[in-house]
Amino acid sequence: MESRKDFTKNRQAMWRPLEERTYRYKKSAMEFFCPLCRTKRNFSINFRLSPMNFLQMILITALFTGLTYSWFGLRGSFIFFILWPIFEFTRRALYKKEIPCPHCGFDASWYKRDVKVARQLVSDFWTDTSEEAQATRQAHQDEAVLQELAKDQNSTSSSAYF
Ligand SMILES: [Zn+2]
Repeated sequence: MESRKDFTKNRQAMWRPLEERTYRYKKSAMEFFCPLCRTKRNFSINFRLSPMNFLQMILITALFTGLTYSWFGLRGSFIFFILWPIFEFTRRALYKKEIPCPHCGFDASWYKRDVKVARQLVSDFWTDTSEEAQATRQAHQDEAVLQELAKDQNSTSSSAYF
């Protein structure tokens, strides 16, 4: 019987991501593996507003209050409560843009809401006939062929993944 240690080792040896060399973000909010293509992924931003965002909101509020002081007085500072939802919405929109996997088209947020839609999105990703999408897929295929060749030449190369 396979021990737990062997199982983990085998799982690591079997780890075949679609894309091995991904762009490394200097400051990533979260690192994870794509559940569909196993490529290492990360979110560059968190969905919550950063202290910097609050500073920006305060500065815009101060500027607006100063400029409109002769008309509204200190009431101009209420713009802060208009800015807040706008910032919140923008931040979440930016975050959502990062959810779909750029390598296989898997969208975790859709998978949670509706599996059929998520499935369709992946299908659309692979049948996208735009030049950009084709170039990306071709690059993945070339990479895969090169990896297979490298493996044939050196059967121990799989350990180099870790
Ligand atoms: Zn993926």
